[in-house]
Amino acid sequence: MADTYTPLESEIRRLITAAGPMPVADYMRLCLTHPRHGYYMSRDPFGSGGDFITAPEISQMFGELIGVWMAAVWRQMGAPENVRVAELGPGRGTLMSDALRAAQVAEGFRAAIVLHLVEISPALQELQKRRFEALDVPTLWHGAFADIPAGPIIVIANEFVDALPVHQAVKQTDGWHERVVEIGADLNLSFGLAHETLPHFETGLPRALRQSSEGSIFEWRSDRFALELGRRVRADGAALILDYGHTRCSLGDTLQAVAGHAYADPLRAPGEADLTAHVDFEALAQSAESIGGRVHGPILQREFLLRLGIDKRAAVLKAGAGRDKALEIDMALSRLTASGAQGMGELFKVLAIADPKLGPLPGFET
Ligand code: SAH
Repeated sequence: MADTYTPLESEIRRLITAAGPMPVADYMRLCLTHPRHGYYMSRDPFGSGGDFITAPEISQMFGELIGVWMAAVWRQMGAPENVRVAELGPGRGTLMSDALRAAQVAEGFRAAIVLHLVEISPALQELQKRRFEALDVPTLWHGAFADIPAGPIIVIANEFVDALPVHQAVKQTDGWHERVVEIGADLNLSFGLAHETLPHFETGLPRALRQSSEGSIFEWRSDRFALELGRRVRADGAALILDYGHTRCSLGDTLQAVAGHAYADPLRAPGEADLTAHVDFEALAQSAESIGGRVHGPILQREFLLRLGIDKRAAVLKAGAGRDKALEIDMALSRLTASGAQGMGELFKVLAIADPKLGPLPGFET
């Protein structure tokens, strides 16, 4: 059987045999970012030939509106002469290319930018380097957000947080147990429960989620990222986070694997499928707020894009397009803003975290 395992599965089985079952979060981290066999480390997963498609790959309108958002926020910050524009997990670099083109509307903004791209994957860094060469904006790459030097900053993160490792706990009669990955009775990787309960777990849960029924699953991420983000922007900056997830903390298993545009079993072929979990926007907002960031939203992606004028942008693009292209623009507009499982308008939420000195941010005005 051993030769049917992916290289990463062989390694995970060795780790479990040596050290015991591993928390779901450790499993997820290995699947995505193991230095040699992690999903993101050696491939380009985007587009129709890849495993999934993201909003900036659907239409240039998405990145353009974010570019206009960045320019407006830069002005609100007092138009600093030097500003770090940071993108977390830039993928193919499409969002930022579209954004920087649109950002030219604000006199002086583009010339003020040093671009900081936070990308863990060497393969995607290479792809981004080729893409950004032509842009004529000074660009630096980092493996982690915390490595970006201090100073005024605008941060963009689209479908980044969903890839950060998530922990899961399962309610049992004697309390909550962390969910782990182990080698099952059939010798395949399977989910199990840590033997010990998580101490005082129930009292740390939001009130509405306490006394839930046996078998309930609660997911959480480390708050390190949210605290770091809040700490950076509260001084002089703003961050925009777009992702799928829930506005309020809730129960449920949202860990999912996607390969070739279809759902897959998260425990099969580790390293060869994308693994994500919904973003808990309430938890993210609370952490960022606790350290002094001001929170705007979360609001539905549809609401955000409409407030920034996506329908007007679509009309302008359509006016200069042929019939087929115009149809394509309509379809993209609908996909980015529609409700339901096919649309991204409601499943995706948008949250901003900013320096409290900045007023209401574009798209979040009430
Ligand atoms: N924002 C892009 C890509 C989203 S996919 C888009 O919208 O199309 C997630 C991106 O985050 C990839 O570029 C991936 O390599 C990167 N990534 C995932 N985990 C990371 C981590 N822990 N640190 C830095 N980058 C990470």
